[in-house]
Amino acid sequence: MSAIPIARNASIKDLCDLSPSYVRAIAPYQPGKPTSELAREMGIEEKSIVKLASNENPRGIGPRTRAAIEAALGDLARYPDGNGFELKNALSRRYGVPMDCLVLGNGSNDVLELVAMAFLGAGSSAVYSQHSFAVYPLATQARGARGICVPARDFGHDLPAMARAVEADTRVVFIANPNNPTGTFADYGAIEAFLKSVPGCIVVLDEAYNEYLPPELRVDTAKWVKRYPNLVVTRTFSKAYGLAGLRVGYAMANPAIADLMNRVRQPFNVNSIALTAAAAALDDMEFVARSYAENRTGLKQIEEGARGLGLEYIPSYGNFITVRVGKAGEIFKRLLKRGVIVRPVAGYELPEHLRISIGTPEENGRFLTALAASLRE
Ligand SMILES: *Cc1c(COP(=O)(O)O)cnc(C)c1O
Repeated sequence: MSAIPIARNASIKDLCDLSPSYVRAIAPYQPGKPTSELAREMGIEEKSIVKLASNENPRGIGPRTRAAIEAALGDLARYPDGNGFELKNALSRRYGVPMDCLVLGNGSNDVLELVAMAFLGAGSSAVYSQHSFAVYPLATQARGARGICVPARDFGHDLPAMARAVEADTRVVFIANPNNPTGTFADYGAIEAFLKSVPGCIVVLDEAYNEYLPPELRVDTAKWVKRYPNLVVTRTFSKAYGLAGLRVGYAMANPAIADLMNRVRQPFNVNSIALTAAAAALDDMEFVARSYAENRTGLKQIEEGARGLGLEYIPSYGNFITVRVGKAGEIFKRLLKRGVIVRPVAGYELPEHLRISIGTPEENGRFLTALAASLRE
């Protein structure tokens, strides 16, 4: 008989103590409030709620993507293609990167975790910026690695300070460009200089909002993968492609780095509908072009509305904008009472701001009306 290391009358606390202390110290991710939850709490119809809290695409999905999803339903009894050949092939042709440079994930969140799994552990560290994406500290902490959070500059990444913050045990640096939740953009020249300055670290360039950048600011970072072996570019189908609910993202990296990430993932980490839908969505260039154009208009609408109410905002390059409203927790609640869900960002050390995802013109209008009333209340 093998010995069981727990006393027979172990308490639930003893059982939880079996988990490493760094896991027990993790603060759970705070997702945007679901519309169904607010509808239940307020006793109102879900349809009447405006949700501008999770940077989703207000256009929904395109007809071609929908048709691809319907066609994929017949194969649900089968396991998906664990290597995601069709989607990788489509990405490879679109971005001109060899297929062995690609890693697919259950959302790009999964891909970020794969970087942490492949490169971080006890005794190593990761560098990221203040006011940056919550998943970086979470993924770092879950590996028992140390997080080094570098103070932001004008709400964005202070790249020279981040380079100086790299220590001997630093394995990974996370950069979100554009950044979430502040919407700031780091010039690609500065990012390239950064990549060169830390050749011994994996640099994750998280481009979840890449498709929302104006064309004149965009750089083909897929081409950089050949030049910089320490670069991991991550992108997603959750934002401009409108597939947040399906969970698909990917990384582009040097084949040896991609191989390590592929070894630590689940064999079937991306489901079959997601694989098919993402390949179809990638082909629908018009859908993404419209999403981009509508986002620019919506961003202007909210900026003008905020200015009209005398509020400051952080100029944004994404599909969301972070506005300074003062007592943000209180304004958030007053907006909820009016059926509008936005995102408080106090957890990102921005206690006076709210982040608003850009919606349809009607949704943006309803938000601005509710905001005006909430500020007067
Ligand atoms: C939304 C977002 C992601 C991606 O989310 P997934 O749905 O997991 O692809 C990644 N990085 C940033 C900065 C984001 O805002």
